[in-house]
Amino acid sequence: MFQFLVFVFGVCIGSFLNVAIFRVHEGRSVIKGRSKCKTCEEPISAHDLIPVLSFFILRGRCRKCKNVISWQYPLVEFVTGILFLLFYSKFNDSSIEGMYTIVRDWIFIAFLILIFVYDLKHMYILDRFTIPAMIVAIIFNLWLGTVPAMSLITGAVVLGGFFYLQFVISNGAWVGGGDIRMGALMGLMLGLNQGLVALFLAYLLGAIIGVMLLLTKRVDRKTPIAFGTFMAIGTAVILFFGNAPLQWYLSLFV
Ligand SMILES: [Zn+2]
Repeated sequence: MFQFLVFVFGVCIGSFLNVAIFRVHEGRSVIKGRSKCKTCEEPISAHDLIPVLSFFILRGRCRKCKNVISWQYPLVEFVTGILFLLFYSKFNDSSIEGMYTIVRDWIFIAFLILIFVYDLKHMYILDRFTIPAMIVAIIFNLWLGTVPAMSLITGAVVLGGFFYLQFVISNGAWVGGGDIRMGALMGLMLGLNQGLVALFLAYLLGAIIGVMLLLTKRVDRKTPIAFGTFMAIGTAVILFFGNAPLQWYLSLFV
């Protein structure tokens, strides 16, 4: 029962993330004002704003103008709910520190979803998401001691520096400033070791997806890829599995 409530809570947070992504892009306040249909501008009534369910009740269309509503909305809500439940279920720890760690992971995940969806949609890693996420990551990790301070600093410098170097060498052609901040954020969320594993995972995923898209002729060699999406996935995966993937990989050679 409690797990179901955690899922519902995650779905509601997902709903808020959808609103944040849309309104930040439009340059509107995230909190103030009612949600409107994108096409006919009709304010959406409260009973049509139930996360996930309303989309299916309305069969994916606006009640008034019947225009198609994006699949992004129910999908982000559902996935956020599942991820919140996964991170909650990972801990068998009912101590107060355990609870704080769950809250930390939920907040990290919420930021990673924002960065993922925004980069996928608009090909841009927003400072409005990465910079608050960095501050939150520093505060939580230092306060809870989940990542040692030295690992946080070196992680941010090495991962951020990795992209900064590419930025300088290519004169801003290969990566943007958003990638530098995202690299630093990965270091601040995970620390140096896990951050590097997450970065490796991001490149691995990017390569696999890139080759698949090339083979299916969905993209050509010149199509830019939203690398922030892969960095967000890599970070989320390592946030969940911790040291296990690296240990597994090293065990192959021992
Ligand atoms: Zn409408």
